[in-house]
Amino acid sequence: MTYSDNESLQKAILGKFRPSTLILTSGERLARQLKHRFRLSQMAVGETAWAMPQIMSLNAWLHKTWKMAWPEYRPLNHLSRLVIWQEAVNLSPPPPPIDWEGDMSLLESLDESYAVLVRHEIAPEGRGEPYTTLSTWRQKVCQNFERLASIQRAFHPAHLPDCVKKIIQRDEIPIPKQIVLAAFEAPSPIEEKLFDVLAHKASVCRLDLPTGKPCRIRAVILPDRDQEVKWLVEQVTLDAQHIPLNGIGVIVPDLELYLPYLRNTLNEVIGPSLVDNYSAFNISLGEPLSHQSLVLAGLLPLRLATEGEPRQVLLSLLLSPYYGRWAEVRDQIARADRIWRENSVDANIDHLLRVAASRDPNLFYLIEGAPERLSNVYAPLRTRSARRVPDWINILERFWNELGFPVIADQIDTSSWKYLKDILLIFKKDLRKISLTLYQFHEWLKYALARETIHTQGSEHAGIQIVGLIESRGLSFEKVYVLGLAGTTLPRPVRPLPLLDPEERGKVQGGTPESQFSFAKDAFQHLLACAPDVTLIRPEQEGGEPLSPSPFWPDSQESRTVDLWNEPNGVWSRIVWLSSAYEGMKQGEHVAPCDPPLESSYLPRTISVSELAIALACPFRFLMEKIINIQPLEQVEYGVHPKVFGSYIHRLLGLFGRSLCEQGLDESVDQEGLQEFLKVCVDQMIRNVAQNPQWSVELRRWLGERDKTPGLLDQWLRIEIERLRKGWKWLKVESSFSGLSFPDWPFSVSGRIDRIDYHPDKGIVVWDYKTGEIPSKKSVTTDLIEPQIPLYILALKEHKVAGITQNRLEDRTFSGGYISLKKWSSISHQDYTPEKETWEVVLKRWQEVVSDLGKLVAAGQYPAEPYPVSRTDKKEKPCEYCPYRPLCNPLLRT
Ligand code: SF4
Repeated sequence: MTYSDNESLQKAILGKFRPSTLILTSGERLARQLKHRFRLSQMAVGETAWAMPQIMSLNAWLHKTWKMAWPEYRPLNHLSRLVIWQEAVNLSPPPPPIDWEGDMSLLESLDESYAVLVRHEIAPEGRGEPYTTLSTWRQKVCQNFERLASIQRAFHPAHLPDCVKKIIQRDEIPIPKQIVLAAFEAPSPIEEKLFDVLAHKASVCRLDLPTGKPCRIRAVILPDRDQEVKWLVEQVTLDAQHIPLNGIGVIVPDLELYLPYLRNTLNEVIGPSLVDNYSAFNISLGEPLSHQSLVLAGLLPLRLATEGEPRQVLLSLLLSPYYGRWAEVRDQIARADRIWRENSVDANIDHLLRVAASRDPNLFYLIEGAPERLSNVYAPLRTRSARRVPDWINILERFWNELGFPVIADQIDTSSWKYLKDILLIFKKDLRKISLTLYQFHEWLKYALARETIHTQGSEHAGIQIVGLIESRGLSFEKVYVLGLAGTTLPRPVRPLPLLDPEERGKVQGGTPESQFSFAKDAFQHLLACAPDVTLIRPEQEGGEPLSPSPFWPDSQESRTVDLWNEPNGVWSRIVWLSSAYEGMKQGEHVAPCDPPLESSYLPRTISVSELAIALACPFRFLMEKIINIQPLEQVEYGVHPKVFGSYIHRLLGLFGRSLCEQGLDESVDQEGLQEFLKVCVDQMIRNVAQNPQWSVELRRWLGERDKTPGLLDQWLRIEIERLRKGWKWLKVESSFSGLSFPDWPFSVSGRIDRIDYHPDKGIVVWDYKTGEIPSKKSVTTDLIEPQIPLYILALKEHKVAGITQNRLEDRTFSGGYISLKKWSSISHQDYTPEKETWEVVLKRWQEVVSDLGKLVAAGQYPAEPYPVSRTDKKEKPCEYCPYRPLCNPLLRT
């Protein structure tokens, strides 16, 4: 019998209901929708109590019927099957190149192949000549599996239709007189045989899925998947104004692919449910248990032990709200991360705890806790040898108990905890005889948790229904959207099934392109029967590559786009961040992040040259970093951090230079003697780090290798000696200055000059050593963004440098620049004397720029604006790597 759509099919199915009728459906979802429909129909005619018809999925009925027969053999659950597969593979290891290391995907592949073959009545253990090495091996492993299962008086559930068929044939159980087989789209051969036997024993009526001819069908193409989902959500929100929510269906052939897009956009526009299970939408695909926060927190000790005890995982454990032990002290413990980062300690609990203890003993005691210390509870997880699975579970549970896990926050946590405990119980029972290393146990547990899904929001009977292709069989809605109808979605690619030989693949559904196409063709026609109004949607491209449409895509289509910023409609105003952004943009004008102005008393009286450079680059950053003192967390650096290295070099050259200045360094110097002395200084500087392999590499770069390659410092010294021979003298090394100020500066500036040189004809030059990139001359003299050298010269001219007497400066010319120490080939002295003007003119400009900045900050204004007073056009530069970006408002700067 055929029907025009699923609505009439469902009515016809329920129309067959008599007290002795059994209604079997292809899937659970249809069975539940039929029961709900029946309930509503009874209430509509004023009934208050009724006998519920026997409606169930074929799978549920098979299990129930088998149980009723008091059988000696039981169908195996998934986990027990994997255990037996593992044993079976251990008995017959796979041929090369398959690497058998307890690989779960191999076990899963065997289980899937076995089920597919049984459903198609092909013997998995082989009755003919196998074609390939893999299928020969599979046959052997399947024989092992059947033997091992039989020893346990169990069997693979794929055999259930056949087992039930046999007990019905032998009249070992009674079956209803009337049976309705509803919506079986593509029953497997083993199911067809069962249906034949049922037809001999009872009156069987088959109601097949209709081929749909909707009143309205529309095809819409959008630029990509993100736009597809946005457009869909816009449409369903508009539909919801005149269609009951549960009358709107969204069928997604590749639901897993679209799940993140759907969840994000629906939650943003429609919002999460306020009351459990009363969400305005229901996504049938649950979330894997392994994604739940409580479960992720519960597995942290296993991750810690199997991933090499990384700092981040230990910190996640200590700061996790699911562990009650540290609830009161979590904010104090968070400081440990700063210590670890500053000390570049990134793994190993012993090391991490030692460093924490050396810097802050109290912190160490907070982390270790009481009564049982963290390191004691954790110690059993460090065992490398294999243990029985129940032992690992006991260790894990003890860890949880001692550390107060779990602290439950809401309903989702409650059900996650229940499912997690259930899975551990199953593990204890089904894997009780198995010994695994901790790594293997972790893998098995992760695998089981990823397969278990939980439903976190929504109901099947209320809200917009979002379902996959198979689940949509027989469902009825007022309006349906089909999402993602691209060429790779319907039909799906051929199932890989690598353990089947080509002949076997030719016989199973989905094993060839032809069978996938024929399945997809039927499925497409059946989904058109889900509603009288159907909208098909597909993306035009993915990652810049065009996507072909499904072969069932209609000829005429509409192109749509969603432009939230330029063409918003009422739907999008539901998104909080978007409406706030619009509000912000309407205000238009710059909003100072520090409004009202900061009291001038907060401005330091003295700032260093490097702080002045920060304030020039961005006053807001100066406010955050230097006044409020918010510092970005250090990143753990592998190798020698360039900053640390730069500071060592500065100290080394300072030590070397000071000693030589004291000895009155001049052109009569002995080069070899200086080199030896430099090495002595180097040894003194790096004594504490010389054993570190990363430092030894750096040292080789700096000192070179005897008779092989000259070092960077050798080259530098050679150039310096040449300069000394040309009449230069090192006047002062590491000279501090302070109190540099002018009448309209609200602060004074202090600093330290790396070196001051003197030449009788050329005057005085201030130098700064640079181990990294040196600033350009333009940035110093014209753009006015690099204050170092000009301020040093100003300090000298204003007699602010300690140890330089006034008479040494009289009638001298002044200049300054950088000594580049970045690489051997580019070591040089870069004098930044301006080309077409004098330093006096440049220094005057600098005085004005600092004064402009001073006025701004003295008025309490710290705008998030790069270079507000400098003369540069490269304004965006300071924002490129600025750690304060999340604190300032980038929108205001565009
Ligand atoms: S991102 Fe740019 S504007 Fe914002 S604080 Fe950093 S430098 Fe200033």
